Amino acid sequence: MTTDATSAVETARAALVEQVGESVVGEHVATVSEDDSALTEYFACTQAGYPGWRWAVTVAMVPDQDRITVDEVVLLPGEEAIVAPAWVPWRERIKPGDLSPGDILPVEEDDPRLVPAYLTGDPGDENVDPAERQQQKLVADELGLGRVRVLSLEGRDQAAQRWYDGEPGPDVPLAQSAPARCGTCGFMLRLSGGLSDRFGVCANEFANDDGKVVAFQHGCGAHSEAQLRKKQLPPPLPDPVFDTMTRGDLEDF
Ligand code: SF4
Repeated sequence: MTTDATSAVETARAALVEQVGESVVGEHVATVSEDDSALTEYFACTQAGYPGWRWAVTVAMVPDQDRITVDEVVLLPGEEAIVAPAWVPWRERIKPGDLSPGDILPVEEDDPRLVPAYLTGDPGDENVDPAERQQQKLVADELGLGRVRVLSLEGRDQAAQRWYDGEPGPDVPLAQSAPARCGTCGFMLRLSGGLSDRFGVCANEFANDDGKVVAFQHGCGAHSEAQLRKKQLPPPLPDPVFDTMTRGDLEDF
């Protein structure tokens, strides 16, 4: 064989036809150089159900030799091909609100949002004496206190940012048009702990956020001190009409 381009295409086509049959091999569509001694020849795929797919046949040519060898024959999707969406790990597919009754969503052992409950200070702080931590754990275990893990600083910051940027935050239309902020509302219950200076819980049964966390900067029209403006008040009722008709008058009809 010769090593010119025509020979490479012919060799690739012959190998492809031998592998998959002539009926599904279309026109030669492209040649792509892989390196100094290898080319990939692309042919259209005419198999039903594979529009846009292409056969790729890689051939190698040793320099200074006439021989062409076939490395591999594969079917690859082109730009127009219909392909399955990229696989996403199941954990990344779960969205808030996807859990149904009975579903279990275990937390990773090294989830950065959680730290062992006996840790104090910044969990990444290497200055905290491990012996001191171990001692705290032993005491906590012995007393049966607390939870196994608690929110880490990172987990707390993530939650605060998520809440502030979302529905409980100050930027939603409900809050933007509110007469006042949750921070001054009598219906807001204060949280305890690390986020108590920024968030509370709404306890107004008529508010959209009843039972939910709200930022101090959030707000709604059900604020405890909200007042209707004069032009928003209903028009006053007309004077009552004095009806002079009596039962006797009716019976005379
Ligand atoms: S009633 Fe409205 S303003 Fe008051 S705490 Fe609830 S959401 Fe905030």
